[in-house]
Amino acid sequence: MIELADALALVERIAAPLPPRRLPLLEACGRVLSAPVVSDVDSPPWDRAMMDGFAVRSVDFSAAAAEVIELDVAVDLAAGDVTSLTIARGCCARIMTGAPMPAGADSVVPVEAAVDDTAGAHAGCRVRLRDERFRAGQHVARQAAAFRRGQEVLAAGMVLGSAEVGLAAEAGATHVLVPPRVRVALVSTGSELVPSDAVPAFGQTRNSNGPMIAAAVQLLGAEPIPLGIAPDRPEAIRAAIAQGLAADLLVLSGGVSAGDLDLVPEIFRRCDVEKIFHKVRLKPGKPVWFGVLRRAAATSTLVFGLPGNPASSLDCFELFVRPAIAILAGRPRDAWHLPRGTARLTGPATAAADRPVYLPCRLTPADGGLAATPLPWSGSSDLLGLAGAAGLLALPAGGRRYEPGAAVEVVLRS
Ligand code: AMP
Ligand code: MG
Repeated sequence: MIELADALALVERIAAPLPPRRLPLLEACGRVLSAPVVSDVDSPPWDRAMMDGFAVRSVDFSAAAAEVIELDVAVDLAAGDVTSLTIARGCCARIMTGAPMPAGADSVVPVEAAVDDTAGAHAGCRVRLRDERFRAGQHVARQAAAFRRGQEVLAAGMVLGSAEVGLAAEAGATHVLVPPRVRVALVSTGSELVPSDAVPAFGQTRNSNGPMIAAAVQLLGAEPIPLGIAPDRPEAIRAAIAQGLAADLLVLSGGVSAGDLDLVPEIFRRCDVEKIFHKVRLKPGKPVWFGVLRRAAATSTLVFGLPGNPASSLDCFELFVRPAIAILAGRPRDAWHLPRGTARLTGPATAAADRPVYLPCRLTPADGGLAATPLPWSGSSDLLGLAGAAGLLALPAGGRRYEPGAAVEVVLRS
């Protein structure tokens, strides 16, 4: 049995980012950039009108901001229109948001500043404008004010969210370099298990780990590959493992404790999966198993055996599999683990004597920090107590009873 910190260090040491690929922007969404994005354009690409109104020369205004200025409308410019005309003194252009400013003009007077029903004035008419707040350059976004052609607009390591996809699109990147989606094969072992759409007979148990771990994988942006249920027979488990080893990561649940039919560790060994650790000082989750099938050229498969009891299974997923997926996906170190913090207990909680324990709790803001309310929970098979728990109390071994008001460490689940 090893300590949790040592186990996590081993996962972090053995997991490595998958080799990146060039993918279309939308496919890369949610992933981490392996290389920066450099823009092929200025933004804005030219001086751009930012209001509907009249493109004017500020010299016509600056002397007499409070007065009504009468100008000839020389041209109409909607977004997408361009003109070779230069706006002369005493003239202006009727302009719509998004159009390039015509030469000579440097400011936009909003259409609301037109007086005496001249707001609709088009080319060939005169417009009367009074803008008491006029300042030179107003309502114009200057060329390259945001970024220049050749500038790095997205750095390696950034996650491609919606704004980043928009920016990459603006910068001319149709494809970006990202690690591929992490493929995670999932096998639920246990002869007692039936699919979750079946009504369990006496002695049977619905496979809740399968959908639960698939959901957890999907929520991390990885691809779950559910391989279903393998009954506790060596050949059945071996066949499922052989299939799952084609993925980047293989996660089994059940069959890793000390029972007669806990066959999984021995079958891993026979499938050449090298054991890195088995059993961690942790509650729930002690039986967790981790290993690796090493192959050439950065295509190893990481293998986890999670305990069968559903709450243990999920806790172990969050502690061990989450960082492995994050590392394969190239995520920065600060995004490998669920965040931790400190909270004040609102009710008593008791630590386990021999192992660090994780207990579901509610988290609420209090006094500028967090308050943690322990939730009723009957142990490692109890998903009811875990569902809806925003946090886990992380209490060190020692059997201490923590009273209300005590500051404790919490893991933030959501
Ligand atoms: P094991 O780790 O295989 O000894 O299983 C421990 C407990 O978890 C047993 O009560 C199993 O029936 C239960 N269990 C194992 N796998 C699953 C699963 N996929 N879904 C729900 N319960 C499970
Ligand atoms: Mg079992």
